[in-house]
Amino acid sequence: MVSVSDAQAIILNLVQPLDHQRDTEVVDLLVADSRILAVPVTSPLDFPHWDNSAMDGYAVRYEDVQHSSENPAVLEIVEDIPAGYQPKSTIQPGQAARIFTGAVIPAGADTVVMQEKTRREENRVFILDAPKPQEFVRHKASFYQAGTQLLPAGIKLNAPEIAVLAAAQCPQLSVYRRPRVAIFSTGDELVPIDQPLQPGQIVDSNQYALAVLVRQSGAEPILLGIVKDDPVALEKVIAHAVAIADIVLSSGGVSVGDYDYVDKILESLRAKIHIRAVEIRPGKPLTVATFPSTDAINRVSSHSPLYFGLPGNPAAVLVTFWRFVLPAIKKLSGITEGWEPVFLKVRSHHELRSNGKRETYLWGKLHLIDGVYEFHQADGSQSSGNLINLAQTNALAVLPVGKTLIYPQEEVQVLQLGNS
Ligand code: AMP
Ligand code: MG
Repeated sequence: MVSVSDAQAIILNLVQPLDHQRDTEVVDLLVADSRILAVPVTSPLDFPHWDNSAMDGYAVRYEDVQHSSENPAVLEIVEDIPAGYQPKSTIQPGQAARIFTGAVIPAGADTVVMQEKTRREENRVFILDAPKPQEFVRHKASFYQAGTQLLPAGIKLNAPEIAVLAAAQCPQLSVYRRPRVAIFSTGDELVPIDQPLQPGQIVDSNQYALAVLVRQSGAEPILLGIVKDDPVALEKVIAHAVAIADIVLSSGGVSVGDYDYVDKILESLRAKIHIRAVEIRPGKPLTVATFPSTDAINRVSSHSPLYFGLPGNPAAVLVTFWRFVLPAIKKLSGITEGWEPVFLKVRSHHELRSNGKRETYLWGKLHLIDGVYEFHQADGSQSSGNLINLAQTNALAVLPVGKTLIYPQEEVQVLQLGNS
């Protein structure tokens, strides 16, 4: 059994990111949000494109107005420059141009005096306060210099990046394709959502949970349904899943029961099993395997797929996905950093308990109390078979191995959910 941190390291080490040439596609900028940039972007434009005004006011020569605080300068207004127009005049000593935010600074001027520090009389302006040299001028190329790297590859595109790419006139861009994640559930007791339940049967809820988690991670879920606890049927589905996906997620059948066949079948398919169990609660029976790249399986992806045999218990599926699968999908997707989960230090509202034997994840909700996060454990059972009280939670409190008790108001680490 490996520790959680060793499991995390082993898994991330097994993930080969998508290829920046083969595994890309070109998409329109407006639908590129949340995608991962595959190629660095360089712009031939400077930002700002030209010296421009940061204020509504007057473009002046600093030397004309430097003593205005003691003795207001009076300047002749020779031009009005709205945003979007090229100035026509060159400002001479004793002259100024009326200027607006974003408008081009005329030749000869080097400083902008804000409107509030002036008084206008017909075509003359009184400068009532001396500005600083070059004040309120946004200089050409002071934000970004043409030809240098504007955005690196491997970043997630959100609103700020999309705005930058729009400003740089990139209507289309190259992003990594979405990782393909095959999902199936194992168990003779499982039925699809629309089938009446016979005694002993339950709905395959894991398929739904995993489909949503995979989609929210930016990957494409491929749903392969329910597979009976039958070695022949399982082998067929595993071989198919491995052939079509970058990552395969099965749930159930990885424990020590008589009907838990997944590990045996992986071995018969010549997979290398890297992890069989992790010191985590819930989620101990977790299988992680890879397939040799020279395998006979005829794959659509050039990648050696990563196989996660997740435990069947619904809470264990969610916890192991957040803790181990999500970082793997992030690394695979081409993101260059920030794969690991982020833990926050918060205050616990009440006592939290663990038997101390495995790293324990307790589900609950973060409440903001006077600007400080407080963790409230979900009411009801924290059994890994209890799916019901996971609804409406948004965080997992983590008790490390050896820690059996956290007192009310004591600090606790939490994994915040739903912000992937
Ligand atoms: P297993 O790991 O196959 O022994 O399953 C552990 C527990 O999880 C059992 O109580 C199963 O009935 C339950 N379980 C397994 N797969 C699913 C699933 N897809 N959806 C809901 N519960 C499941
Ligand atoms: Mg089972």
